[in-house]
Amino acid sequence: MQAFFIFFLILLTLEFLSCQTPLNKIENNLSKSKQEATKMKYEKTDDEWKKQLSSEQYDILRLKGTERPGSGKYNSHNEKGIYTCAGCGSELFTNDQKFDSHCGWPSFDNNIAGEEKVKQIKDYSYGMIRTEIVCANCGGHLGHIFDDGPTATGLRYCVNSLSLNFIKKTE
Ligand SMILES: [Zn+2]
Repeated sequence: MQAFFIFFLILLTLEFLSCQTPLNKIENNLSKSKQEATKMKYEKTDDEWKKQLSSEQYDILRLKGTERPGSGKYNSHNEKGIYTCAGCGSELFTNDQKFDSHCGWPSFDNNIAGEEKVKQIKDYSYGMIRTEIVCANCGGHLGHIFDDGPTATGLRYCVNSLSLNFIKKTE
């Protein structure tokens, strides 16, 4: 009789454990889907980025650095074409959106498709409240956006040249 009771207890314990497994699985799946929601469409590991980018580009795009003012190749660049993300090639700005801000970095008053292309993130680093802009496709750091632009949009997308590539328009 006692043996039967112990057997019954073991059965109960097994039943309890087997009920736990699906619950854990659900929780795992939930946290997985949360991770996926914040995932970028174009993802690479740190090692892959280091292989693809120059060390200067890696510092800016992946470590959120800033190039020296006036040093970038697109600062005083006025050709017709499209500025793309140096990380993933996503088209970000047109030459029509570029203006001379005299701030030392390429500046744009808008981007090609709003938040779909250029994502804004609040940045509290260096004791300042600024709004960081990143490529919505790969998360690469582009620069910052300010609301002191001189054109109708009132916006100034202040972008590192190293975050950009340029595709010349051929007419
Ligand atoms: Zn990108």
